[in-house]
Amino acid sequence: MKSRALFVAVLLATAVAAAPLAERQAQPAQPAKPADNPKVDAFKKEAVADVEGQAVFAQQMVDQIFSYGELGFQETETNRYLIDILKKNGFAVEEGIAGIPTAFMATWGSGKPVIALGSDIDCIPQASQKPGVAYHDPIIEGAPGHGEGHNSGLPLNIVAAIAAKKIMAREHLSGTLRVWTGTAEELVGAKAYFIRAGLFKDVDVALFTHVGDNLGVSWGQGTGTGLVSVQYSFVGETAHAAGAPWRGRSALDAVELMDIGWQFRREHLRLSQRSHNVIVDGGDQPNVVPRTASVWYYFRETDYAHIREMWEAGDTMAKAAAMMAGVELQPTKVLGSAWPQHMNKVVAETTWANIQQVGLPTWSDEDQQLAKALQKELKNPRVEGLSVKLPERLQGPAEHNDGGGSDDIGDISWNVPTVTLRYPSNIPGLPGHNWANAIAMATPIAHKGVVAGAKVQAMTILDLVARPELVQQAWTYFRDVQNKDTKYQPLIRAQDTPAIWLNKGTMEKYRAEMKKYYYDPSRYKTYLEQLGIKYPTVRASTTQ
Ligand SMILES: [Zn+2]
Repeated sequence: MKSRALFVAVLLATAVAAAPLAERQAQPAQPAKPADNPKVDAFKKEAVADVEGQAVFAQQMVDQIFSYGELGFQETETNRYLIDILKKNGFAVEEGIAGIPTAFMATWGSGKPVIALGSDIDCIPQASQKPGVAYHDPIIEGAPGHGEGHNSGLPLNIVAAIAAKKIMAREHLSGTLRVWTGTAEELVGAKAYFIRAGLFKDVDVALFTHVGDNLGVSWGQGTGTGLVSVQYSFVGETAHAAGAPWRGRSALDAVELMDIGWQFRREHLRLSQRSHNVIVDGGDQPNVVPRTASVWYYFRETDYAHIREMWEAGDTMAKAAAMMAGVELQPTKVLGSAWPQHMNKVVAETTWANIQQVGLPTWSDEDQQLAKALQKELKNPRVEGLSVKLPERLQGPAEHNDGGGSDDIGDISWNVPTVTLRYPSNIPGLPGHNWANAIAMATPIAHKGVVAGAKVQAMTILDLVARPELVQQAWTYFRDVQNKDTKYQPLIRAQDTPAIWLNKGTMEKYRAEMKKYYYDPSRYKTYLEQLGIKYPTVRASTTQ
């Protein structure tokens, strides 16, 4: 045996020496393979089959939450529905966490590791849209809708948790699963408060998930921003705007002066910044000098120090604008905040290995037809349809960051090892925060994407539970690399509280009408069937 092994080694060495240099250099470094663990592999195989068996259940949850279409902090139907499902599946549910009525944390199991499975649940203003229809066609004109796809993430986590916990219970594996809501993510309104309330103190790993158009995961500091969301309110004095304008002081003047000031400042800000605002109160009617006015700003930057800097510039401008207009600036309100995200290397590598095993769903001709018709409708330069290839590699830290969106999962990611699993429930090349992003979200595209994502998530849970060294390594990266030079300090101030009043009026305006369209799985197999939509519905001009 010994001589034979030597013979093989010599043969190999000869072959390597004989290979041209260029060819040898082109060989990519082989990623470290996880130790062979047939037992864990068998658990994972079983979990994948279990998730597959839950496909109809996943579809029902995705369609149900899609039909609720609730804005941030008003996710009452969604919450009631999810809590009921979790309780039926053996979870103990703590409701109204961190002072937020529509937030919950559900717990199953005991002991270490504690794995927190989260995803967002809120939707987008004015994104009401018929699913499966490849052009703008609202269910209710002006109503909110799932134009981001947040109806799919918690169904994914619930399916994964159910599959994993069956195996954990049978095998007496130590571990606690927590399922929690990314309440009001579109307002980046909740997660910093979860941290402040100590809800992640005993968590070992946070497995977050967010809809995307492929399976993917990343580690390190990615592209995108963190932010602080601040409302500036001014108070002046009313007067007859024509009869005695000199007796009035306009709060709206202060809002407009602040906005003009900010537009000038924009020239001198870093390229990575994003800032935008809406006027939430601009007065009552033109012949009454506005006594009150409010403007709501998002200040986004790629690190904490620069977010603070922008915020201070905004505060200074608000004070100056109040002085110019002769009105009072009220104490400012922070309505939301998010740290820039930093994802854990070890957990990302573990997830990535599972992604490669699961692969992408098989899309039908109808799925591809819908995707291509929508891409044409939006006049996208590329009409590529749905993703059919996984990303080339696990995504590492971004080389440069030109800014972009934010997610308050950033705050969680600076408190416990965290990753965000992206799953292919949507169509590539969409604008985001738009009716177009809702089209796929109650169709087979979303359903299959959720099943694929749930398989990955269940496998990763089992890895973390059955291989404790992974959790240890994740913490080593978290402590020694990620937190080496950065210390988390919340952007919310002691006096700030969750902005749970937001979106109340909008939901009150639309809810009665929306109720008529809530999905009824006892009567219809799918939401498409309930709405009587032929899948896909595309314009003749956008078919291939
Ligand atoms: Zn989102």
